[in-house]
Amino acid sequence: MAIPNDVRRFCGVVQGSVLKSDAIRHASGASTATAEPVLVAAFGSRTFGRSTFAISRLCLDMIRYLALTSLACVVAASLPTSRARAQTIAIRADRVIDGAGGVTPNAAVIVEGARIRNVGPLPSGFRGQVYDLGNATILPGLIDVHAHVVWYFNSRGRFHTPDDGDTPVQSMLAAAGNAYQTLMSGVTTIQSPGSPEDRDLRDIIARGDLPGPRILTSLGSLSERSGTPSQLREKIRAFKSAGADVIKLFASRSIRDGGAATMTPEQIDAACGEARAIGLRTLVHAHSAEAMRLAVNAGCTQIEHGIFATPEILSLMAARGTIFSPQCGLVFRNYLDNRAKYEGIGNYNAEGFASMESALPTGIEVIRRAVATSGLTMVFGTDAVAGAHGRNVEDLICRVNEAGQKPLDALASATSVAARSMALADSLGTLAAGKLADVIAVAGDPRADITALRRVVFVMKNGHVYRHESTAGSAR
Ligand SMILES: [Zn+2]
Repeated sequence: MAIPNDVRRFCGVVQGSVLKSDAIRHASGASTATAEPVLVAAFGSRTFGRSTFAISRLCLDMIRYLALTSLACVVAASLPTSRARAQTIAIRADRVIDGAGGVTPNAAVIVEGARIRNVGPLPSGFRGQVYDLGNATILPGLIDVHAHVVWYFNSRGRFHTPDDGDTPVQSMLAAAGNAYQTLMSGVTTIQSPGSPEDRDLRDIIARGDLPGPRILTSLGSLSERSGTPSQLREKIRAFKSAGADVIKLFASRSIRDGGAATMTPEQIDAACGEARAIGLRTLVHAHSAEAMRLAVNAGCTQIEHGIFATPEILSLMAARGTIFSPQCGLVFRNYLDNRAKYEGIGNYNAEGFASMESALPTGIEVIRRAVATSGLTMVFGTDAVAGAHGRNVEDLICRVNEAGQKPLDALASATSVAARSMALADSLGTLAAGKLADVIAVAGDPRADITALRRVVFVMKNGHVYRHESTAGSAR
């Protein structure tokens, strides 16, 4: 496996067979007789202190895993380097969609360090590195406000559950793989509602030590079983202390169990009221119109799913400024396509799958209704679970091709509108001077053919290039 010099430096690669630390030798159990370069997890000891042992092992396992799955070279190319940071970069293509409704033909995004310096014609005599992407379309990095990045299929090819025998290392490697797939598909920011494991993944990606999307997480969730209003308030403060970026509530049953309201008005009022008071947004899982109404009345920030949303409740949401995060089809199709991997676990039973099948046309209809509701803020949230990571854009394709949303509106929903919904509009969601350089490109023009989103040719996050593919011979 060939490892570029800058990556060699970054990972502390040692040519030959010497493992530098007893802890790492012990943890890896690796043969030291191999002629392959041995990766010493230098960043483990630097960054993790007491957990060096476990992280070194994780690192080594991860490198083996990546090598096995042929991702190593791409990951190597995608690890950030100080050289990349110092440079001024121009990304040029036949069109730039800025995420806020604007389209500029034949333009470049100029990036300096982690931020965008300018968007416009490529300056004559530009001396930095130029990525000329030809007939591609440059877009802001996509934002998926609802993705379960740690959900995966286990070593036996079944949906992972806590007691299935997979080790914590296997689980974290799978989550890292999901994060990687998500980033490479052009999604540079996700919001996870949410698991405790999200925190370590969020933090290691934020440090630049692992390629993945920026992650915001609720670290867990609350439901009708979480206690009295005062107990709910206390739990929300505890989530904040633990580092949660947002609060997730389950205010209705699953679609597989009918979707009826579960939390009482007092519980929802307490939860959304307390979160608001301490500066946290609330994402409320709600399917029935009644559950949605309770969330709107409690002043919660955003409603997830809403498969039984009526025109009345959508108008009420528009009037109150409640954000809507519906799914067009990816989540249901993914469950149905991977039925054998889920079936028999919890409510993934015959009835549950029948509910999801019937939710497919309903989901599309709800998007149609939402598009037709004036003043309603609709964000892009796929509810990506095991099997769907890296295919997030399928839900945008569904919106345009099956629910009739205009391509630029669908793209805004996954960029500027999503950034606003997460209170990140100052730094993300549009291509404009001063914003963080999350820049992607797809072959062709997604306004003419939204499936262009499947053909990602360039991914930059925070000014680092993670993916760059030749556009020669691509659809024109
Ligand atoms: Zn979900």
